[in-house]
Amino acid sequence: MRQKRAKSYRRLVHQYVLHYRFREPFQVLIDNTFAQALVRYQVQDPLKQLVNVLQAKVKPMITQCCMVALYEAEKASEGNDLRQAKDAIALAKTWERRKCNHKEAIAPGECLASVIGPTNQHRYILAADDAYIRRARRRTVPGLPLLHYSQSVLVLEPMSDVTERHIAEMEAHKSTVSVTEQKILAHAAEPTPAPAPLPPKRKRAKEPNPLSVKKKKKGEAAPPTTSATSPHEAPEGSDTKRRRHKKRGRGSSSVSITSTVQ
Ligand SMILES: [Zn+2]
Repeated sequence: MRQKRAKSYRRLVHQYVLHYRFREPFQVLIDNTFAQALVRYQVQDPLKQLVNVLQAKVKPMITQCCMVALYEAEKASEGNDLRQAKDAIALAKTWERRKCNHKEAIAPGECLASVIGPTNQHRYILAADDAYIRRARRRTVPGLPLLHYSQSVLVLEPMSDVTERHIAEMEAHKSTVSVTEQKILAHAAEPTPAPAPLPPKRKRAKEPNPLSVKKKKKGEAAPPTTSATSPHEAPEGSDTKRRRHKKRGRGSSSVSITSTVQ
């Protein structure tokens, strides 16, 4: 694998680790069509390829219904196809069987949809050769990495729109909280009396008050909203920091995210 591609894959995988808490070994949910592709492309060591692309320990697994689909393909084929079908079954048998509890086997696409669910809560990576199956999950489930073969090259698909939007929403939720915090702080630092919830704020405003009042004189010509958007001024900045430390849980996680995104 080219170094550039390895780097971009590493970055991509890291996004899933960061935002969706993927943990090693990554559970790679392989469908029947991907198993067949491995045989068709004569991939010598499928596990090693998965490890190379994801750059992590992996645990390959296949659902009962996908396994049934492989047996049905075996029944329906003959000659060289039959040999390939048998090889695909033998390969799939080396993987962990994911119990899907479909007593009567259902179509692999539906089975995978039910196992992955609407949020991919078990943090699977879906490996499927069937483009329709991939597309259906890609469009609906955020935080689902997808793998497929493209002309015998294993590809980790770029992040889906649904996933990107979902991450942006999560980030926006975090930053709106901190923006409201900043506004509250700005109000507390203002010399004019703030409206309703005064008592807790006043206590906090007492310590940095002399400093912030001095600074305020400079920026008084500007509207009060600008003071809220410029937290880098010394007194306000220190005030924000003090606040952040108190809410450690949220603060530290958002800090780590912004640092690793770059
Ligand atoms: Zn099933």
